[in-house]
Amino acid sequence: MTGIVLITGAGGFIGGQLVRRLEQQGTAVRAVDRKPLENWFYKSPTAECIVCDLQSKDACNAAARGVEQIYNLAADMGGMGFIENNKALCMLSVLINTHLLMAARSTGVKRFFFSSSACVYPDYLQRDTKIEGLKESTAYPAMPEDGYGWEKLFSERMCRHFREDFGIATRIARYHNVYGPFGTWDGGREKAPAAISRKVAIAVLSGNTEIEIWGDGEQTRSFMYIDDCLKGTEMLMNSDFAEPLNIGSDEMVSINQLVDIIEGFGGVKLKRKYNHSAPKGVRGRNSDNVLIKQVLGWAPSISLRDGMEMTYRWIYDQVKARAEGRPFIAAYE
Ligand code: NAD
Repeated sequence: MTGIVLITGAGGFIGGQLVRRLEQQGTAVRAVDRKPLENWFYKSPTAECIVCDLQSKDACNAAARGVEQIYNLAADMGGMGFIENNKALCMLSVLINTHLLMAARSTGVKRFFFSSSACVYPDYLQRDTKIEGLKESTAYPAMPEDGYGWEKLFSERMCRHFREDFGIATRIARYHNVYGPFGTWDGGREKAPAAISRKVAIAVLSGNTEIEIWGDGEQTRSFMYIDDCLKGTEMLMNSDFAEPLNIGSDEMVSINQLVDIIEGFGGVKLKRKYNHSAPKGVRGRNSDNVLIKQVLGWAPSISLRDGMEMTYRWIYDQVKARAEGRPFIAAYE
């Protein structure tokens, strides 16, 4: 039986769902985020919930006191629209991981999980829509996403050196685009699956038949459903593998294909207006899952169609609730 587990970023999408999953397994959870509690996506009935800013060293020391494991999911982050325009804010997340590692060392934490990202991979491998999956070994020579990606790569390295020099068992996941119900779906930090679902839902409800797409829609990506993300996270944390590992789907689609799928759920065909000056990110990105299959004997497998259907339905309900002046459906039943 594990002792107390600290989950940071617990008011956010992945952190909130991880709190829920671990508490359902009977784990004692301390959940920390800087958002006011009323804005947490998941409000746990059993976890010890703390609101504080983990960029502060004192806050990290207090959060880590008496815990056995840490999952660090706190970061200032969002989709392309956010990370291209907020590079300094993204870089400042380095304070969270650094102070948490220092706290982990001084309080004797046994295991430490860091949520890295596919944004660590070099730009020069992602200039074509038809790319091979990104293998873990290709992150160097480094040329990651400016701001957000550099912070992730540096923090990966910090984890590695804390493991080598101070003996903390660190685990590093390189998540590739995670989506699902209870993810950010508006406000500027949302990612493509949620943004497109919201636009299609608004079109369905309003009868407006036009949709704006960022770029030419031919850029490619893969998207991982939240349940696969949580399963992979837990498996990696409990494994002996200490190097960075992709946790992502390898079902690559273009943004236009993603729009086709979501339009299908809404039963509409919309006129696409391409905004070529909007942030677009890399031209092509996919996860290579050879290593995860070797290491964990498992890889994300929930199809984009199945995962997107659940996500679209949830976002449609949010959009409808808002249009009718009903409260945001944030909490789990
Ligand atoms: P999210 O934005 O929903 O959650 C992050 C949470 O961290 C937010 O609730 C935010 O308030 C909190 N936070 C930020 N700064 C903080 C601070 N100084 N102190 C305390 N809390 C703070 O994001 P998410 O999608 O749940 O992502 C979780 C982690 O996974 C992040 O590290 C993110 O970079 C990484 N990641 C996510 C994706 C994805 O597609 N969602 C992909 C790659 C990596």
